[in-house]
Amino acid sequence: MEGALQDDLATLSELNEETLLRSLSHRFSRNQIYTYIGDILVALNPFKYLPLYEKEVSEQYKWHEKSALPPHIFAVADRAYQSMLGRLAAGPKNQCIVISGESGAGKTESTKLLLRQIMELCKANSQLEQQILQVNPLLEAFGNAQTVMNDNSSRFGKYIQLRFFHTSVKGAKINEYLLEKSRVVHQDEGERNFHIFYCMLAGISKEDKEIYGLLDPLQYRYLSGRYNSDDMLTHWSTKYREVCNAMDMVGFEEQEKVDMLTILAGILSLGNIAFEPTDSDGMKVTEMSVGWLKAAAGQFGVKEEELLKSLTCTMSVTRGEAIQRLHNQQQAEDARDSIAKVAYGRIFGWIVSKVNELLAPKVDPDVELSEIGILDIFGFENFAVNRFEQLCINLANEQLQFFFNHHIFLMEQKEYKEEGIEWEVISFKDNKPILDLFLTKPIGILSLLDEQSAFPQATNRDFVDKLNNKFKGTPHYEVVQGFNPLFTVIHYAGKVQYNAGGFLEKNRDTIPASIRGMFINSVTPLLSVLFAATISRTGTLMPRKAKMMESVDDNFNSTRKQSVAAQFKHSLGVLMEKMFAASPHFIRCVKPNSSKLPDLLDDKLVMAQLRYNGLLETVRIRRDGFSWRPSFAEFAERYNILLLNPDLPLNKESCMSILNSTEFKGWKCGSSRLFFKYWHQEELARLLERLGRA
Ligand code: ATP
Ligand code: MG
Repeated sequence: MEGALQDDLATLSELNEETLLRSLSHRFSRNQIYTYIGDILVALNPFKYLPLYEKEVSEQYKWHEKSALPPHIFAVADRAYQSMLGRLAAGPKNQCIVISGESGAGKTESTKLLLRQIMELCKANSQLEQQILQVNPLLEAFGNAQTVMNDNSSRFGKYIQLRFFHTSVKGAKINEYLLEKSRVVHQDEGERNFHIFYCMLAGISKEDKEIYGLLDPLQYRYLSGRYNSDDMLTHWSTKYREVCNAMDMVGFEEQEKVDMLTILAGILSLGNIAFEPTDSDGMKVTEMSVGWLKAAAGQFGVKEEELLKSLTCTMSVTRGEAIQRLHNQQQAEDARDSIAKVAYGRIFGWIVSKVNELLAPKVDPDVELSEIGILDIFGFENFAVNRFEQLCINLANEQLQFFFNHHIFLMEQKEYKEEGIEWEVISFKDNKPILDLFLTKPIGILSLLDEQSAFPQATNRDFVDKLNNKFKGTPHYEVVQGFNPLFTVIHYAGKVQYNAGGFLEKNRDTIPASIRGMFINSVTPLLSVLFAATISRTGTLMPRKAKMMESVDDNFNSTRKQSVAAQFKHSLGVLMEKMFAASPHFIRCVKPNSSKLPDLLDDKLVMAQLRYNGLLETVRIRRDGFSWRPSFAEFAERYNILLLNPDLPLNKESCMSILNSTEFKGWKCGSSRLFFKYWHQEELARLLERLGRA
């Protein structure tokens, strides 16, 4: 009995941080990694294989009663699916599953398990289901990398929208957020470049290596000389086969694959180009790296002189006159790195749009589809050095925490008050002020960043000075003294010091016209398409290119010229709008230890996560609160069948008659709606089912 009781922390009678931690820890030691807090799932990362996801288990959790089986991620899949079909309760049809937790806590693994189970639930053995499942290995190869926190860390955020007509899946769409492009050219100690580079080098045949001009991996500067150990080689070549299969399955053409590998090889060669001063002003390619310049030009399908030119000087046009400004060493290296980043970023964007094109629902536009969205974004990050990318990632997590708080605490308690329900207010850590610090117009951090980015002469120091000026003394901001452009934000999940070096440039993210021109003229069709995308309306493309074009069009045209921060803010806004309009399901992933070890739970680390996630307060509100709050009309319409009277008026009296016919306890009646415990919903579903069977 004790075990069953602890399945749901909302049933703990004695409740404080200690008991909460002890329950989770006790369960963890028995490999019970999943625990409910009412309708919220807490998932501890086991860091080892557990026989939890076999076929039989998957079958067991199909259309089951939540309380009848131990907590499981498959139960969340089932609940989302049944809710979408309207089998559980009235409410928005569209569902979103929000998975949060810090880096390495298990969000991406959870996403894959959810996808798999949802595809099982709507099983029609169609090719589409297989295609949807193949998207993950593909995106992971290009968008994940080893970091100090996680060997398979997502370096981009994603929202997967599964679209259904009745019970069957009709298509899917992926929204991606902020790929960490800087990883292509630089990785900190203990980290790696994106998986695909290692997969490619380990997986392709000797002959193909020659065709693509790939050399010894240890030579490539962009891989930081980190490529070793034979067991990893086997791992990577297996992954490479998976990626190739996925590309075939999803429907990439052979030529597209060849082009893509060639461009990746070109990026690696490019990275090895080094510069030295010429006798006059300006830079030239060192003698040692002339070969790399040749190789890169060949792989990119561009003229060697043209590549050299875009590395060593910037062309601009002033009053109709072309002016050539020679680069110094730093500028030449920056130009090289920004070419690599932009090329990689566009390949990634192209893959996503290609996938979306292929998985788009093939139904009449006026057929109304319902949706289950799964959000798997990069977890909260706090490294030794935190850059622009960490700022965006942490802002996204801040926004998610807000969404969680809003649903669990704000909305619920506001309704108690409005509806006259007796209630002792549960306080929670409201992170709205932190969100405001970032997003307020015109003086939030992002607005100030955009303002500074618009001045060509402004420096990162200027930006930080502006921040210090505005936010000195505000509760969530701390000034950092010293020469470096540093500042500290006190996030919901802890204090993070940011280094603003590179902020303005990363935020502008512009590519010189000359570089774009060079790539548009590339003889590699894919490259030409990727860069022509922004000028697609000129209609100068060849037919084959025009076809490939369609898939990149969306991604690049609409967002042209906006700063990265502005784009990100916009896409976060769109995402939040979508999520606020859906029924949410929350999964809180928790990382048991920082060493990625099985069977080890670090009390301090787990407690910190429980605290900043607000899990103690969540348990309290789920224990004492009413998470399901249908209006009288919603309730009466749905459950009038319990009185076998479809003509009952949709009002309070009818609701009372229905409820009086049951033996329910613990619900309350407000002025316009009913207040139920999370488990009432399931009890009602059980009554309906019994009735259906009778
Ligand atoms: P990031 O924010 O860095 O992307 P994440 O939260 O997505 O992190 P995952 O990549 O899902 O973290 O998980 C990290 C690792 O933990 C996985 O590669 C896997 O080894 C292990 N892991 C996570 N969940 C499970 C599970 N349910 N069973 C076994 N191992 C798991
Ligand atoms: Mg991940």
